[in-house]
Amino acid sequence: MCYAIPGRIVSIQGRTATIDYFGERREAGIIETGNWALKTGNYVYAQGGIVVDRIAESDALAILESWKGRFFELKKRDAGIAETAKTKKIKNNGSLASVLDKAESGALLTRRDMETVITAEKPSLEPLYASANRVRSRELGNSCCVHGIIEFSNNCKNGCAYCGINKNNTKLARYRMGADEIVERAEYAVKELGFRALVLQSGEDDYYSDDVLVDIVKRIREQCGILIFMSIGERPFECYKKLYGAGAYGALLRFETSNPKIYSMVRPGKRLEERLALIRKLIAAGFVVATGFLVGLPGATEQDLINDILLTKSLRPDMYSFGPLIPHPRTLLAGTKPIAPDYALRAIALSRFIDPKAKILATTALETLNKGKKDGLLAGANSLMINLTPDKYKRDYDLYPGKTKGTGLGTRNPKPGTQDTGPGTQDEIRETLGLLYSLGRAPTDIGKMDGNHVFA
Ligand code: SAH
Repeated sequence: MCYAIPGRIVSIQGRTATIDYFGERREAGIIETGNWALKTGNYVYAQGGIVVDRIAESDALAILESWKGRFFELKKRDAGIAETAKTKKIKNNGSLASVLDKAESGALLTRRDMETVITAEKPSLEPLYASANRVRSRELGNSCCVHGIIEFSNNCKNGCAYCGINKNNTKLARYRMGADEIVERAEYAVKELGFRALVLQSGEDDYYSDDVLVDIVKRIREQCGILIFMSIGERPFECYKKLYGAGAYGALLRFETSNPKIYSMVRPGKRLEERLALIRKLIAAGFVVATGFLVGLPGATEQDLINDILLTKSLRPDMYSFGPLIPHPRTLLAGTKPIAPDYALRAIALSRFIDPKAKILATTALETLNKGKKDGLLAGANSLMINLTPDKYKRDYDLYPGKTKGTGLGTRNPKPGTQDTGPGTQDEIRETLGLLYSLGRAPTDIGKMDGNHVFA
């Protein structure tokens, strides 16, 4: 099983390789040259627009052979679903109909158009999602990034009002994975399960010094040709630089909300400007950045949501990562009314219209509200994340209620000491692949289309 297709380098210009995938060309940056000394004709894996591994020609050809038929068959299925989706008459909403025409023709939407999308009512939602799905299919084809996530510590020094692992939640059993355990888990995810991009996530936990994190990243990269995203919150930029040097070229860091007042309310003692400055620095330094926001924070209006999407676009991240707030009973936002599921889907559709070539994640939080992955993928999303945290820790990474739903864990953790990689993870991978194939999506990350990365 493989979550990336190897491609053949057809040319190299400076630090940019042009890679061929069954006749489609993509660009990817070359950061590491030492071990590989890449040449035209080499076969490589790219993730997030970066070459992460080289593969022997004979191995590559065998993988490509197994993909050839499927690749084109999936493409056809996806295009078929997108083009023939029911475009029911939009009743009593002529303005939405004309906004959808505009979006599909590639014209820029006005603020008023964006409001029309965000406030669309039930009967118009199906055509709205179908339209966003068509834009996704036409602009980007059927590739769908499938990243794995390992949640390595639920200790956190912050008191974020939305987050279940905040420091004030005294009822939560805290855990930390040791360095060896994290490295082994990552190796398992790559070598046994076939992942080519992994997110290492935790609360803000200073137990892991910069040196310890650097060592973990180095050890993983020595063993695995993958893209590693760090999702460890606000560490000094210097720390991120060291991690980049060790081979973690990705960062997942949401700005949570574009509204500075709401930000300081839900992240007591923190300022939006500081978080944004860090995100901007990471992007400028060449990190592959996933960022975004929480939909449905108290006090956030439809205008705020539009601003959230526009701010994400202006940052030019590699990936949009946003999802609905799921109020957690042991947080300051316990009493917040959950938003209607459609709201987050409308946000996906609008993001697709505003930034047609973006990678947009159908986040796991969405899944607690909807048929998550599927609904998200059919409303304009084209990326997924699979939880690869060992089963014995999964439930305690309790960001929001219902997070382990659908992982086979139910509401209880397996017995302490149970071997990891239980049916939870395996089932989720199987289900996800089944879903992707049924929708005609290829679980691949075939690199950036415009090669606009700046490399550090
Ligand atoms: N400590 C890291 C990782 C945080 S957890 C950091 O601060 O970046 C990853 C994301 O989960 C957060 O950025 C937040 O947007 C999301 N999250 C936290 N609590 C949530 C909740 N109750 N509902 C939905 N998403 C939540």
